[in-house]
Amino acid sequence: MTRTAPLFTKVALIGVGLIGSSLAHAMRRGGLAAHIAGYAPSPETRARAAELGFCHSMHDNPADAARGADLVILCTPVGALESAAQAISSSLKPGAILSDVGSVKTAVIRDVGPVVPEGVHFIPGHPIAGTEHSGPDAGFAELFDGRWCILTPVAGTDETALATLVDFWRGCGSRVEVMDSKHHDLVLAITSHLPHLIAYNIVGTAADLEEVTQSEVIKFSAGGFRDFTRIAASDPVMWRDVFLNNREAVLEVLGRFSEDLSALQRAIRWGDGEMLFDLFTRTRAIRRSIVEAGQDTEAANFGRNAKPNRA
Ligand code: NAP
Repeated sequence: MTRTAPLFTKVALIGVGLIGSSLAHAMRRGGLAAHIAGYAPSPETRARAAELGFCHSMHDNPADAARGADLVILCTPVGALESAAQAISSSLKPGAILSDVGSVKTAVIRDVGPVVPEGVHFIPGHPIAGTEHSGPDAGFAELFDGRWCILTPVAGTDETALATLVDFWRGCGSRVEVMDSKHHDLVLAITSHLPHLIAYNIVGTAADLEEVTQSEVIKFSAGGFRDFTRIAASDPVMWRDVFLNNREAVLEVLGRFSEDLSALQRAIRWGDGEMLFDLFTRTRAIRRSIVEAGQDTEAANFGRNAKPNRA
């Protein structure tokens, strides 16, 4: 839905890769910002972003992009968020909202919180939407449609600023949930971080198997391996930073996962078909509830060949 008046006069995106550029497209579609300013450190990304034209202005200095903005969103890998916040902190205007899209939240509050100037509303966020593609070409306006965005405000957050940010994400097509950062990190460790770790591990193991050739792995990949390779093609910098910054929660769910895997190993060894059948029946029901909740589709290949459906 396009508004009659934009929600913000100026929004700055620090980082214009998949998430930053998708935000710019979604903001334009929803008429959310009169001006969108962008920044990326590499001249190549800045040039490509300028060519694609999703920002009204591209800057070679993050402070220039952020100056005078009502909303600044840090869209860099998690490991770069602190330095990005430092680089813009002196140019943030009083009353501005500073947010981010990092996949980990407690570490971001720890690292970015201390550099936020007095009078600026820092409200961390995380859109649960993405693809395995990166960079300014990867973005599209529909990325956030029907997906959740989790906001993790710190104690004492200004209610009006929080309500404005909720409005912003809804305007980008998202559904919004507010929760504590620690809880976010635990939920995401099981729903996103652990599955990525398993995918990276299984693809690595297949690549190292000496008795099975690379060409066989590729030729027969439709047997399940192919879907893991899609996840394991995700950006290495982003995922390195996720695991380094959500260590505690990932180790906690990994411990649980290893125990359950050992139980499966035992069931296979002792021919416990009942245990295997019961588990596979329960997991099928979970798949059904995800489709029913509108978080995926039954289409072949889960509809991922069509760009706007990927998530
Ligand atoms: P991306 O496509 O690789 O884009 C990252 C952007 O950050 C690039 O424009 C990059 O510029 C810029 N950047 C890198 N270092 C920077 C720094 N020090 N200062 C300012 N900008 C810097 O990554 P993405 O997928 O959009 O991910 C961005 C964030 O969103 C990450 O924190 C990630 O955890 C989170 N997230 C990702 C997904 C997903 O599925 N991809 C989903 C939800 C949330 P250059 O190209 O010039 O290096």
